[in-house]
Amino acid sequence: MSDVRNVIIIGSGPAGYTAALYTARASLKPLVFEGAVTAGGALMNTTEVENFPGFQDGVMGPELMDNMRAQAERFGAELIPDDVVTVDLSGEIKTVTDTAGTVHRAKAVIVTTGSQHRKLGLPNEDALSGRGVSWCATCDGFFFKDQDIAVIGGGDTAMEEATFLSRFAKSVTIVHRRDTLRASKAMQERAFADPKITFVWDSEIAEVQGDQKLAGLKLRNVKNGELSDLPVTGLFIAIGHDPRTELFKGQLDLDPEGYLKVDAPSTRTNLTGVFGAGDVVDHTYRQAITAAGTGCSAALDAERFLAALS
Ligand code: FAD
Repeated sequence: MSDVRNVIIIGSGPAGYTAALYTARASLKPLVFEGAVTAGGALMNTTEVENFPGFQDGVMGPELMDNMRAQAERFGAELIPDDVVTVDLSGEIKTVTDTAGTVHRAKAVIVTTGSQHRKLGLPNEDALSGRGVSWCATCDGFFFKDQDIAVIGGGDTAMEEATFLSRFAKSVTIVHRRDTLRASKAMQERAFADPKITFVWDSEIAEVQGDQKLAGLKLRNVKNGELSDLPVTGLFIAIGHDPRTELFKGQLDLDPEGYLKVDAPSTRTNLTGVFGAGDVVDHTYRQAITAAGTGCSAALDAERFLAALS
C-alpha cells in the first residue's frame, strides 16, 4: 500500500497529460497511469495533426504527444506506462490498483481514459490509418481536397461527416449495410440534397486495398453477395465510438451511451474528489484541443478541491 497522493490521473492522451502538467505545476506531484498499450492516447495512431494551435506547419501525432508527456514530466509528474484494473472511488481516500496488484491511494482522481472509435475489423484498416483511412472528418477532411471519398455508416455522425467532407471532396459515397438510414430526418435530407453525395445501399466493405496509401475499396452486397470496386483515396469510418468507462460502472454516473457524466461546465462527477475530462466525457467535439482544454479544467477543479480540504 502506497502513501496517499494528492491526485492520480488515469489516462494519457491530451486530457491526461494536460491535467498532469497543470497539477504538477501546482506542486501536487500527480501520478499518471498512461495505459499499458497506448500511452499517449489516440494521436499515437495518426500521422500529421494540422489543427493543434501553436504548430504553424503541423506536427506528427506521436511527436505532439511525446512533447506533452515531456512537458508534464519536466514539472514533476510521475508517469507509469500501465493500466489501472480496479478502482474504489467512493471514500475520502480513493484507491486505484495496477496490473501488478499494487494499490495506489489519492485524495483526488481525474479520469481521462478517452474513447475508442469502432473499427470495421478488416486487415489493412489500422495500417492505413492516417494514410487514407480516417475516423474524423474535422481532423482530416482538409487532406482530401478534390478527391473521391467513401464514408461508412448510416447514423447522424456518418451524415454529418459526409456533408462536411463534400465541401472539400470531388465526390462522397456513403456505404451503408441497410437500405434505410438511422440518422435523423433533418440530417438525411441534408445528405440526400447534396449533389456531391451518392449512396451505396445494402453493402459493406469486403477489403481495404492499398500498400502505403489507400488505393480503393472492394464492396460486398449483403443481399446477393456480389462484389464491386469503389475507387476512392479516402475512407472515413463513422460507425460509432465506445467510451472507456467499463472500469467505473456502478461507481460513476454514465449516460445512456456509456460516457462519463460531469456537472458541466465543471468537470465534477457524481463522486466528491473525482473529475472527468476529454473524450471519455465528450461525444460532441472529440478533438485534441478540446480534450486538452477540459484536462486543464479538471486539474484546476482538483486543485481547488484539494485546497479546500486543507
Ligand atoms: P485519448 O487520446 O483517447 O487517451 C486516453 C488514454 O487513456 C489512452 O492512452 C489509453 O491507453 C488510456 N487509458 C484508457 N483506459 C485506461 C486504464 N484503465 N488505465 C490507464 N490508462 C488508460 N484530434 C485533433 O484535434 N486533430 C487531429 O488531427 C486528430 N486526428 C485524429 C486521428 C485519429 C486516427 C484519431 C483516432 C483521433 C484523432 N483526433 C484528432 C482526435 C483526438 O485524438 C482525440 O480527441 C483526443 O486524443 C482525445 O484525448 P483524450 O485525452 O480524451 O483521450
